[in-house]
Amino acid sequence: MEGTAVRGRLTWRTATVGSVADETPRVRTLALDVPGWPGHRAGQHVDIRLTADDGYQAERAYSIASAPGEPLVLTVERLDDGEVSPYLTEELRPGDQLEVRGPVGGYFVWEPEFGGPLLLLAGGSGVVPLRSILRYRSRTGSAVPARLLYSSRSLEDVIYRAELDGSVSDGVTVCHALTRSQPPGWTGYARRVDAQMLAEVAWPAADKPLAYVCGPTSFVESVAAGLVGLGYPAVRVRTERFGATGQ
Ligand SMILES: Cc1cc2nc3c(=O)[nH]c(=O)nc-3n(C[C@H](O)[C@H](O)[C@H](O)COP(=O)(O)OP(=O)(O)OC[C@H]3O[C@@H](n4cnc5c(N)ncnc54)[C@H](O)[C@@H]3O)c2cc1C
Repeated sequence: MEGTAVRGRLTWRTATVGSVADETPRVRTLALDVPGWPGHRAGQHVDIRLTADDGYQAERAYSIASAPGEPLVLTVERLDDGEVSPYLTEELRPGDQLEVRGPVGGYFVWEPEFGGPLLLLAGGSGVVPLRSILRYRSRTGSAVPARLLYSSRSLEDVIYRAELDGSVSDGVTVCHALTRSQPPGWTGYARRVDAQMLAEVAWPAADKPLAYVCGPTSFVESVAAGLVGLGYPAVRVRTERFGATGQ
């Protein structure tokens, strides 16, 4: 019944906002209740459609933040001059409704049997699908070694900070790069991700790591090129671009 399943994913469904939670001053997590939701894979995204009173519609893609088997959760960063993200992060309240289509994507996904060491690289809200992957790794009891290199502007902009700190006890190595400001005594990276940083954090290509890179387009392209420069085959570097802005 694959045809039915594909048609199901292309259907717009009405989602009801269950809860909202602030992650950072600019980022909010939305838990959605979607009757008939078919489930999703770690790393996939959905399309969101908003319709104004005058019938004007706007659609945007948002990665799924929750693991397979968990309810649908999105995490949205507010772009002050954006059309959709200010509404999702400031106006939306529990009980409100919006339209959701998906899940979408069969490439930027992770399954425990893919193996690896798992190398996750995030710029800003690009951490969202990587969080789904890390939660799935944990839920499935996967022993695949995992490292996350996560670039944020400042410590207060780090999304899921407590959860990521907690994932260390689950065998995940988390390295932060704070590009604009650092708190007193900061011992992590204090610059944008560069070739030197990648060489320090990434597994050697000989270990056959599997890399997932997600964030603003410029971040993704420079990091993916850096990994290829370290000898990673391009097919072992999966990328998801959020667009020109976003961090
Ligand atoms: C697969 C995928 C997954 C994504 N997942 C997430 C996620 O998990 N979380 C998240 O926060 N975002 C995610 N995004 C980004 C998201 O889809 C939106 O692009 C983002 O929320 C901005 O939407 P917006 O309507 O607020 O901004 P927009 O109105 O689309 O504007 C975006 C930026 O472009 C500029 N802009 C708009 N129109 C023009 C124009 N004509 N000329 C010049 N500049 C212009 C605006 O000034 C603004 O800075 C994802 C994107 C993709 C493709």
